Amino acid sequence: MSEYINGILEDLKRLNPGQEVFIQAATEVLYNLDPLISREDKYKKHAILERITVPERTVVFRVTYVDDKGKPQVHNGYRVQFNSAIGPYKGGLRLHPSVNLGVLKFLGFEQIFKNSLTGVNIGGAKGGSNFDPKGKSDNEIMRFCHAFMEEFYRHIGNTTDVPAGDIGVGGREIGYLFGKYKKITGRFDGILTGKGLNWGGSLARTEATGYGLVYFTDNMLKKAGLSLEGKKCSISGSGNVAIYTIEKLYQFGALPITASDSNGYIYDSEGIDVALLKELKEVRRERLSEYTKFRPHAKYISVNEYAPGRNGVWDVPCDGAFPCATQNEVHLADIKVLYANGCKFLAEGANMPSTLDAVNFMLAQKDFYFAPAKAANAGGVGTSGLEMMQNAGMTSWSFEEVDKRLRGIMNHIFEISYATSEEFGDAGNLVLGSNIAGFRKVADAMIDQGYV
Ligand code: NDP
Repeated sequence: MSEYINGILEDLKRLNPGQEVFIQAATEVLYNLDPLISREDKYKKHAILERITVPERTVVFRVTYVDDKGKPQVHNGYRVQFNSAIGPYKGGLRLHPSVNLGVLKFLGFEQIFKNSLTGVNIGGAKGGSNFDPKGKSDNEIMRFCHAFMEEFYRHIGNTTDVPAGDIGVGGREIGYLFGKYKKITGRFDGILTGKGLNWGGSLARTEATGYGLVYFTDNMLKKAGLSLEGKKCSISGSGNVAIYTIEKLYQFGALPITASDSNGYIYDSEGIDVALLKELKEVRRERLSEYTKFRPHAKYISVNEYAPGRNGVWDVPCDGAFPCATQNEVHLADIKVLYANGCKFLAEGANMPSTLDAVNFMLAQKDFYFAPAKAANAGGVGTSGLEMMQNAGMTSWSFEEVDKRLRGIMNHIFEISYATSEEFGDAGNLVLGSNIAGFRKVADAMIDQGYV
């Protein structure tokens, strides 16, 4: 690694103490940019790495709401507006107790390059709160979302910053957030994506991240002369991304056999019943353990039974793995078990689900195919871009039209990532290809716009 890049990383570590996941994300990106930076002098000359690793703006605010017992509850609200060189800030809102500034900086940083890869002109951002929606009543969720928007409305706009969902934020939360925005401002603007279909949402946005992940994987396997047909696939998570990954895998002839949440995982040898999963998670908002009541042959394994330091879902032998829950859920020990059990590919639905050493292990295996998150899960934000286009044109497209465009976006991302990996002499290394391709467009825009 060049001394220049190591120096930037050392500065980042010094200036961002305690933000380990942000440093992890920055390390991966900067290491992969090394061949480009050493080849083209202009990025160093214009201090692009020094600038792109610092958010343009970070907003931290207090959110107070009253719970069902009449007690005030106080949380931190955040928005990290990382980079707007190629378009308005765009990136989801996460509601989870693990949320802090470091987590949102890692997500916002990744979002810059992911959004660039989509070909839609959108900048990178991320936001959210350490509020835990689990176990809260509908009214508590509404009061929290309204309280969040009481401050947040000042920082967003349909040409400045357009947030969407992420962990803990789906259609219900977007509705409450939007309602409060409209009440305060009196404006019906497309300031959020993932909206309800009756009031400006796009068909296929709910499905987009999972569907896009499978489209990307299909491209990657085809390039290697393989296919998803007949493949047993292991999926982690049971939220938005996991559900629609499972649904689309069936359409490609694959057999998805697992799903998980933070309490354990389900192994269904006959294939996960996706209608049941939707009913449990989207309608009843139940825990995943309820699944076996309806499918008694399926096995539920609780986290208490996992081996120490392991994510148990990866013990299930499979041909392909789709981590779709959260960051750092595939460790080196997990990927070694997957590989030893015959797994031939891993496609990331969650953001940064694999640790750096797990990624390096995958890249080192000549017979293993790895689809990194910033390329493979970009279908959600790409389709959010399509929702913005429909809002701007005051129109709505059919499901088939949006799905066709989504597939086009995923094909484009695969092609540009693969072509860039070839250009830099490591054909098929999609980590290298996606990082360089995503970076180049943003960095060149920053050079065009001068030192701002
Ligand atoms: P959801 O809230 O719909 O689902 C999250 C799922 O992951 C739940 O099953 C949840 O289980 C599980 N999970 C969350 N945190 C943990 C944890 N710490 N340990 C174990 N399991 C956990 O979120 P999404 O499906 O929308 O998001 C999943 C991932 O995909 C995230 O990394 C997100 O950033 C990424 N992503 C999402 C996009 C989208 O369009 N929604 C777009 C691109 C990326 P439990 O209920 O027990 O918490």
